[in-house]
Amino acid sequence: MSTLMIWKRVGLAIVAAALSMSALLAQAQSGIKIYVFSSGALTIGKGVLYNFAPMEPPVQIPVGFFLIKHPKGNVLFDTGNNDKILTDPSYWGPMFDGLKPGHTPDLAIDAQLRTIGVSPDDVKYVVVSHMHLDHGGNIAKFPNATLIIQKDELAAAFFPPTGYAGPYIPGDAFVLRGKTGDGNPSRMKIIQLDGDMDVFNDGSVVVKRWRGHTPGSQMAVVKLKKGPIILTGDNVYYREQVEKNVPPNVVLAYDPEGILKAYEWIRFMMSTQGADFFSAHDPDAFKAMKKAPDYYE
Ligand SMILES: [Zn+2]
Repeated sequence: MSTLMIWKRVGLAIVAAALSMSALLAQAQSGIKIYVFSSGALTIGKGVLYNFAPMEPPVQIPVGFFLIKHPKGNVLFDTGNNDKILTDPSYWGPMFDGLKPGHTPDLAIDAQLRTIGVSPDDVKYVVVSHMHLDHGGNIAKFPNATLIIQKDELAAAFFPPTGYAGPYIPGDAFVLRGKTGDGNPSRMKIIQLDGDMDVFNDGSVVVKRWRGHTPGSQMAVVKLKKGPIILTGDNVYYREQVEKNVPPNVVLAYDPEGILKAYEWIRFMMSTQGADFFSAHDPDAFKAMKKAPDYYE
């Protein structure tokens, strides 16, 4: 076979692979939905989230988390505040008093998912943007799911970098460990990433490693019919920060350059692919969003 013929065959194979990938994506997109929830609220000085903004009076922010329905299974992106605080404020130590999270029974993550007919066992993958107390709190409620987390974040959850330990609650990480003496270190299936993951191999839900807010932060791109939605985790607090390129205070910016690069990439995705993004804590943006049982498709 001539070299030209070989290259023609390679080219055809590439085109065929691309076509089957886009067919798979189109198939997924016909059934994919994002549901928006909040795990209550937190109270905090805006200047912590938005550098040089005033600290007083404190602002109240939602604690967003998201359920992605995909024809091949449900993906939970973040898990909110640990439901333990609904009955035991001491679980967060002194932070509970300052952050004033909501603590009514209807905020429990299983109660919220029930409103769209999803039980914890219906969740196939739990993706955590990072392991801070308002994102990794309820992983233990999904023992039959597979956790998708960056290796660096798992390490940070168990032993955070000096100066950044406060928002990592030891108990939220410890529940991931297997039984004492068991050779298997983890209680549930865990995919430890050092990079990106196309969750269903069809391009519809792609987890992206994005060190910024924390050592192992990750974001996700969900390709809805109407365009890609970027779930930012805490690499973004207020939408305005992406527009104006304003990072948070350094205490919430483990890698400030990573955060600014995330903003730049989000702006690029918006201008070139018609993408939009959902952050967890922007009060006005959250108010304007469709909340479960309504959804985005
Ligand atoms: Zn957060």
